[in-house]
Parts: sequence; structure tokens; C-alpha cells
Amino acid sequence: MSSPKTCHKCSQPACYIRPHGKLPLCLTHFNESFVRRVKKTILDNNLFKRNERIAVGVSGGKDSIALLTVLHELKKDLSSELVVITIDEGIANYREDSVKYAKLAAEKFDLEHHIYSFKDLFGYSLDEIIAIDAKTERSLGACSFCGILRRRALNVVAREAGVNVLCTGHNQDDEAQTVIMNVLRGEVLRIMRSNPTPNKKHRSLIPRAKPFRRTPEEEIVLYCVLNDLPYQEVSCSYAVEASRGPLRDFMLDYQNMYPSTGMNVISSADKILELATQLKEPLNNKYSKRKIDTCPECGEISSSGQCKVCEVISYLKEKEES
Ligand SMILES: [Zn+2]
Ligand SMILES: [Zn+2]
Repeated sequence: MSSPKTCHKCSQPACYIRPHGKLPLCLTHFNESFVRRVKKTILDNNLFKRNERIAVGVSGGKDSIALLTVLHELKKDLSSELVVITIDEGIANYREDSVKYAKLAAEKFDLEHHIYSFKDLFGYSLDEIIAIDAKTERSLGACSFCGILRRRALNVVAREAGVNVLCTGHNQDDEAQTVIMNVLRGEVLRIMRSNPTPNKKHRSLIPRAKPFRRTPEEEIVLYCVLNDLPYQEVSCSYAVEASRGPLRDFMLDYQNMYPSTGMNVISSADKILELATQLKEPLNNKYSKRKIDTCPECGEISSSGQCKVCEVISYLKEKEES
């Protein structure tokens, strides 16, 4: 028996044993390898270049707080400028708190912080949207509205802040779930659209980057706890509606038995993407490129005709009046 465990790199006691590889790490070496992996993800996938202005979407949850902390640490190394963007969806007894954590983090690192609400941007808070939607026979559910509006909100605010890239806190578990979800829905070709390297698809779209794509959720929680980073621990009151619940539980169970599951799913997605990029036109073109149109109402991009955001707003106006 070799317990109590010591770090495999020094003589300090271990605070974490990586399930994959079973390597014990002390706090210093855990932090070092945590940050190093993010740096490697950034460099391997060309997430951003030197002297770029980088936005971090910070909700105040563990992922975004940890991401901001790591990117701030890497700032000098990557000579990039950081700005923080927070979107307040307007969810009573939940968002007020998480915005507070986002503010705290932005102030700690003395960063420019852009905070906008759904109410400012679209005229409705998420709670108001849900109240209107609940009056209808077939309500669409909070997450579908929130997803559409938040995506737009982040893009508009990032564009106005004049940034080159927008980073989000999606971690390896989130990304692996998305890949499997696409397979389960028979939409495996969507994987070809999710290139980890940010690319400018349209002049009005700010490219997205996910520096935590190779970082397991478990390590993000641990990084926050071990480094005393305050974050919003309560999850969104609407999250129970999300259809990912059973898939998430299944993948966590499976990952407990086979710790490299998340990593393997992401690697598989990368291999599919690599194969797709080697295909000759028109096959590659057909599946990997989305048509981009301009919405006649708001001038933002859409897949064809009226965009999803204008669709949502006109749906709400109609229901509100009826
Ligand atoms: Zn150590
Ligand atoms: Zn529109």
C-alpha cells in the first residue's frame, strides 16, 4: 500500500488523483497541469493569435469563473487582452446572484465588463417570456427561448465590444454530450460543423472558442474549490427542463467505469472532422457549410429569411396580445 498518496512530481501530499492514468497530484502540480492543458488546447487549435482582444462570456458559474481565472493567468504568455461579457437573462432568485459573482471576478482582475440583460436587448426578461409562453397550449419551454436569445445576445455584445474571439466555458463533458446527442438524433454530420478552430463564417459573427474543450467538469469544480474561487453553485431553476438529463447521467455513469470516455468522444469527433476536411467537394461542402442569409427584419444573420430571434419576438408579441 502506498497511501497516503504523495504527488507523483514532488513530495507534497496529493489533493487529487486523476481517474485517467491514476496520477496523484499536489495542489501546485494540479494547478500547473490544469493551466497547461488549457494553454495546449489554445495553441493546438489556434483559438487565438497574439495581440488579439478576447472576450470571455462569464455567467458566474464554475466553468466561466475558472475559465476567466486561467485566461487571466495566461494573458501575458499569449499577449492577449481580455474583456468580460455577462448576459442577464432575467431569472428571479438566480441570475442576480450569478451576476454578482461575474462582477466580483471581473473586478478582481480589473477587466472591462459588459453586462446586458435580455430586457435591454429584446424587451423581455426570460421570466416574462415564460409567463407569456405558459398561457399557450403547446409551450416551447424555457431552454429553447434562452438558447436562441443568449446566442444572439453574446454575439451582439461581443461585436460591439470590438473583440476578435468570444470564449465560452463549455467543458469536455458538455462537448462530449453534444457529440453523442447529435449521434442519437441521427445528425452525426453536425459534428463536421463544430470545428474547434474559430473561423469567421460571416462578417457579423464573432468566432467562438472553447478553451475548456479538453478539460473534464470534475477538474473545473476542483480547481474552483481548491483555489477559493467564488461561483454560483445553484443551478438555473429552468435547467430541470433540459432534455440532456438522462444522457448526462448515463455518460457520468459510463465515465465512472471508463474514465477516458469524455476524452475519447472528443477525439472521435476530431477524427470525423479531419476526415471531412479531406473529402473533395461537393460532399464536404454539402455537409459542413451552412447557408448564411440576412434577416429582413433585424439585419442579423439567419439560415433563411426571418431569423429565430425575430421569430421568437413576433411569437411573444402575438401571444401577449391574444
Ligand atoms: Zn507536486
Ligand atoms: Zn431578425
